[in-house]
Amino acid sequence: MRQAKNQAERNRAAAKRAARPKVIRICQYREKKDGPICGIKFEAKPRIGKNGADYGVHPNQRYCPKHATPAARAHGRWLNRNVERYKAYAIDYRDRNLVSVRKKQRIAAKAKRDRVAATLAARPADWMKKPIEYRIIGGELTSIDGQMGNRELAQRLDLSRIIKCPYASTWTIALSGAGRAANYISDIRKWMKRPGKTLTTK
Ligand SMILES: [Zn+2]
Repeated sequence: MRQAKNQAERNRAAAKRAARPKVIRICQYREKKDGPICGIKFEAKPRIGKNGADYGVHPNQRYCPKHATPAARAHGRWLNRNVERYKAYAIDYRDRNLVSVRKKQRIAAKAKRDRVAATLAARPADWMKKPIEYRIIGGELTSIDGQMGNRELAQRLDLSRIIKCPYASTWTIALSGAGRAANYISDIRKWMKRPGKTLTTK
């Protein structure tokens, strides 16, 4: 008896939901602060409680299914944040933690000076006398801690598009084997004291 009654109640609720006109909204998601909105039309779904009660469509349901994710909503809140309040909070934080803030800044500044000093120390004495191609490729060779093979170097040079390869259409092609390009890189390696991986074919 009660089951039948509950079933009838659920059926009535479902019928009521079905009779309700669809709520079509336009997605309000923005990538940038004053950028265009996503603009996709979507059907806003009503909230249904555990007991089947229909709580209607929430006014805050403003994003299409693709953008109705926690990350997208958090991004929206970040764009709408009160910048003045954040700034005031940052200033207040600095005032209250001045000693530790200054200590952190000193450590960061020293780390930066050390990085610059290490970069300068790794350069040969005649650094400024060499052509700029030497300096760019030499800088690339020393940009990672370990060894950099010709293949990786070629990929980096092609991607950066700073220096066009004079030996072939790309550095990757020119450095795929022995030849003038490989000799050129070999000279720079000697100058920078950064040998490549030993070639198995010679
Ligand atoms: Zn959207």
